[in-house]
Amino acid sequence: MATKRDYYEILGVPRDASKDQLKDAYRTLALKFHPDRNKDSGAEEKFKEISEAYAVLSDDQKRATYDQYGHAGFDQRYSQEEIFRNVNFGDIFREFGFQFGGGGSSPFEDMIFSSMFGGGGGRQRGRGSDLRYDLQITLEEAAKGVSKEISFNRNKACPHCSGTGAEPGSKISSCSKCNGAGQVKSVRRMGAFGSFTSVSTCPSCNGKGERPSKACSECDGHGIVQASEHFSVDIPAGMDTGSQLRLAGLGERGPSSSGDLFVFIDVKPHSIFRRDGDDIYLETNVGFAQAALGAEIEVPTLSGKAKLAIPAGTQTHTIFRMRGEGVQRMRGRGKGDQLVRVIVRTPTGLSEKQKKALEQLGDIAPKKGVFDGMFR
Ligand SMILES: [Zn+2]
Ligand SMILES: [Zn+2]
Repeated sequence: MATKRDYYEILGVPRDASKDQLKDAYRTLALKFHPDRNKDSGAEEKFKEISEAYAVLSDDQKRATYDQYGHAGFDQRYSQEEIFRNVNFGDIFREFGFQFGGGGSSPFEDMIFSSMFGGGGGRQRGRGSDLRYDLQITLEEAAKGVSKEISFNRNKACPHCSGTGAEPGSKISSCSKCNGAGQVKSVRRMGAFGSFTSVSTCPSCNGKGERPSKACSECDGHGIVQASEHFSVDIPAGMDTGSQLRLAGLGERGPSSSGDLFVFIDVKPHSIFRRDGDDIYLETNVGFAQAALGAEIEVPTLSGKAKLAIPAGTQTHTIFRMRGEGVQRMRGRGKGDQLVRVIVRTPTGLSEKQKKALEQLGDIAPKKGVFDGMFR
């Protein structure tokens, strides 16, 4: 499983989004989460996330690599530096007409890069990252719903100190490095670009503003431990490939809160059924005589075998609807239908006797009418 969110999802665009769509989505999100405008905890992390997604998806080759291999394969091929190599955020922000602060757009570029390339304690501020878990289920499971066990590793709040980092019972006092503010300010000169003030989480207290007299013995005061998690996830009926379940708080633990776990559903292709929304398609063969005379045939459904009446005179490729034999609807009540396409088999390898019978049938057929062209 990957520990990062999907880039398309981060930008809120479809997988076939055009360059203009990507740029529009990035502009909107960048305006919203730019750390100069948005002082919420987590805004900088969010800004970094959308910038990375944009850097990858706006580059044809990187986008193709990401589409093909996903995060895991992509991260093996590109370093963080390479991801941002050909993207000039200064130009992009100028194009967007962003005017924050006083130093033109370059400080933003620096902001992104400093947070990407280990800008220090500021990176892990606030909420932890979301996690993605890819879960494959069968069509039958998707139709009826299923409970699945999932296992994954994550950082979670230390159970010994409940995530506080303090040994239970120890005294808590105000952090001397940040005077209890939880944040430290630093001003850097950026050559020709002017100066850039950054506010980052106090590394001494991890943004809490206070420190215990004795650090937690289990987590060394970090408040976070690596854990191997096992959960049972209820997959409701009706989910399809690409559906997601969000399990709040089951993502990575950050200094102040945990991210979410997103379970991405992948429904395995079925050997005989094809799904279209809530409906199920099936092709079935019937004999020439059954089609002509009518018959009750047995067809598989998601819930076992069922009878289907074929009326006399059924043509090949006729589709019959079996109501309520499809997938449970996620919205609204009831189930979709099963649509059965009947393929009439033309008999082969006929015996002499059978041939004779068919020839006789041809002879007795009227020259014009319902049997037109069927025997000659
Ligand atoms: Zn602890
Ligand atoms: Zn501090």
